[in-house]
Amino acid sequence: MVRYLSNLNLIQELKKKALKGKRLNRDEIISLLEIDPESEEAELLGSAAREVAGAITNDRADIWASVGVDYRNCPMSCNFCAFGKEWGIVTEENERNFDQITEIIHNFVSQGARWIILRTTQFYEFDKLTELTKLVRSQVPGDYEIVVNTGEFDELNAKLLEESGVQRVYHTLRLREGIDTKFKPDDRIATLETIKDSQLELAYLIEPIGIEHKNEEIADIFLTGLEHGATLTGAMARVPLPKTPLSELPQISSRRHAQIVAVTRLAANRHAPNVCVHPPNQTALNWGANVLVVETGAIPRDVTKCESEWNGFDIKTAKQMFKNANYEFRS
Ligand code: SF4
Repeated sequence: MVRYLSNLNLIQELKKKALKGKRLNRDEIISLLEIDPESEEAELLGSAAREVAGAITNDRADIWASVGVDYRNCPMSCNFCAFGKEWGIVTEENERNFDQITEIIHNFVSQGARWIILRTTQFYEFDKLTELTKLVRSQVPGDYEIVVNTGEFDELNAKLLEESGVQRVYHTLRLREGIDTKFKPDDRIATLETIKDSQLELAYLIEPIGIEHKNEEIADIFLTGLEHGATLTGAMARVPLPKTPLSELPQISSRRHAQIVAVTRLAANRHAPNVCVHPPNQTALNWGANVLVVETGAIPRDVTKCESEWNGFDIKTAKQMFKNANYEFRS
């Protein structure tokens, strides 16, 4: 009971702090992550996060529409990714042509997607990517942001991205970077620094979260994103894939995922007004997320090519989930 009151007070205090626009510190984040996701206290945490989400977003929800550009083996072979060459999942490589991509984007934009993400494997040709973004910008009218999710890049390439019409980059220091990936964490951080020093905005989720990650790791990865100016954050769960080294470790529970999202909402508050959950999770929307991802094409979380929306999750379904969580979606 003492513990319950203590957590209740903690949640109330940190909600007030969040509403004042003050970022939560590492210890506070870890304390919230320590709450049992199955408990009543977690419900209170979720309600507090939803209240903060309403105050910050004015109850506006939005769609992040992600388009896989190339489906190919990647030599980096991250332990959680379907494209890892060492796992032998991709047997037939292919790439969508520009016409196919613009048609898909047109469809997403016409349904109200706010962000259009061009997702490539790590070594997709940079010139082709900027050519594609220019084409999308010229051929698909509408009020949307172009986002890229690609490999590492420097200041010069950041400028080229800006000039081609890109407004935001998705980039992260992944959980256990350098352990479950072959990247040097410093190389990933260098790209985050480049983004911070550019006009590009940063989208940064804690990912790919599995049952193997400790609260301290989650807090540190999250804070790295905030320190690099992330204005869109949230949490993405690792999806266990057959043949990958982490296949035996199950996905985190829906409530644990929602709890992490709730913590990011309180911790980032006005500094990152948009909070995303992926894969889709109704509890996470009820607990402070306001962004859902609809994606097609090559998806690192699936062993198939996903020609249409991943797992059948489309914008229509997302809209219903927003409605269930009392958000407004302005398409
Ligand atoms: S996560 Fe990125 S870098 Fe790692 S294997 Fe997949 S495509 Fe390559």
